[in-house]
Amino acid sequence: MPQILDGVEVRTQILLGLKPRVERLKRPPGLAVVLVGEDPASQQYVRNKIKACAELGIYSEKLTPPASTTTEELLNLIESLNRRPDIDGILVQMPLPKQIDSRKVLEAVAPDKDADGFHPTNVGHLVAGRPAPRACTPAGIIEMLKYYRIPLAGTRAVVVGRSDIVGKPMALMLLAESATVTVCHSRTVDLAQECRRAHILVAAIGKPAMITSEFIAPGAIVIDVGTSRITDAAEAARLGLAEQFASKGSAWVGDVNPVDVKRVAAAYSPVPGGVGPLTIAMLMSNSVQLAERHTCSG
Ligand code: NDP
Repeated sequence: MPQILDGVEVRTQILLGLKPRVERLKRPPGLAVVLVGEDPASQQYVRNKIKACAELGIYSEKLTPPASTTTEELLNLIESLNRRPDIDGILVQMPLPKQIDSRKVLEAVAPDKDADGFHPTNVGHLVAGRPAPRACTPAGIIEMLKYYRIPLAGTRAVVVGRSDIVGKPMALMLLAESATVTVCHSRTVDLAQECRRAHILVAAIGKPAMITSEFIAPGAIVIDVGTSRITDAAEAARLGLAEQFASKGSAWVGDVNPVDVKRVAAAYSPVPGGVGPLTIAMLMSNSVQLAERHTCSG
C-alpha cells in the first residue's frame, strides 16, 4: 500500500509551530479579508479563513463591499488598508465580479501586506529566491513534502498546470529545492509520457480523475491539487467513491484517478484531506510572518 500524505496532520503541525510565534509578538497579527458580493462558495472560504485566524489568535477583519462595487471603490478600500498599522496582511477573495479589474486590485495591495503571495513583486522575489510571502497552495505542498522527508534535490518533478496561483509558483518552489522541473499544460504533446518521467508528479488541472495509471511511474510521489465534485453515481462507483457518494449524494475527486494512484504510486495526497487543508495553514503562516516583519521594523 502506498503512503498517504495526510494534509490534516501537516496542517496541525504548521499551526502548532505558529502558535508560539503569535504569542511572542507585541500585538496580534492583523488580517483583512475583502469579500465582494455574496457568492456562497467565497463566503464559505472566508468563514474558514476567519475561523482559522480566531483559533490562532490572529485579529481578522472582514470587509464586504456589495457586488455592485466599482474598481475605483475597491482600490480606495485597499489603499486605506495599506495605510493601517494594525493590518499586516490583506486578502482579496477571488473571483471578483466581472466589472472589476482584478489585476489592478491585486496589484494595489502593498507587497508587504500581500497575504496570498500573488503580487508581481512577491512573485519576482520567489523567482529571485528572496524571502517574501509565497502563494499558499504550492507553499503548503512544499511543507508537506518536507514533513514526510521526501527528497527533492535532483529528482525529476513534473507539474501539470501553469496557473499563476498553483502551477507556476509550484514549479518555481520545486526548482528552488533543486528538483529538475518540467511544467505541462493543455498544449503539452504526449502528457502521459511527460508525467511518467516524474519522481514527483503534481496535478493542478481541474479535470476530475484525468491522471490515470498510464501517467504515473511506479513508485512516484503524486500530489493531487484538483478538487471537483462528482454528481453521477456510476462515475463515483467507477472511481471507488460509491460509499462517499451514498452518504452525501455527491463525491469529491481530485485530478488523479483515486483507484489507479493507490495501485502505482509510492505515496500520494488524497482528495479530500491532502492539499486542501494546507492552503489556509499557509495563509496563517504568511500573516504571522508579515506581522513579525512589521512589529520588528517598528
Ligand atoms: P486553472 O484553471 O487556472 O489552471 C488549470 C491548468 O491546467 C492550466 O494551466 C491548463 O493549461 C491546465 N490544463 C487544463 N486542461 C488540461 C489538459 N487536458 N492537459 C494538460 N493541462 C491541462 O486552475 P488552478 O490552477 O486555479 O486550479 C487547478 C485545480 O486545483 C482546480 O481543480 C482547483 O479547484 C484546485 N485548487 C485547489 C486548491 C486547494 O487548496 N486544494 C487551491 C487552488 C486550486 P493552459 O494554461 O494551457 O490552459
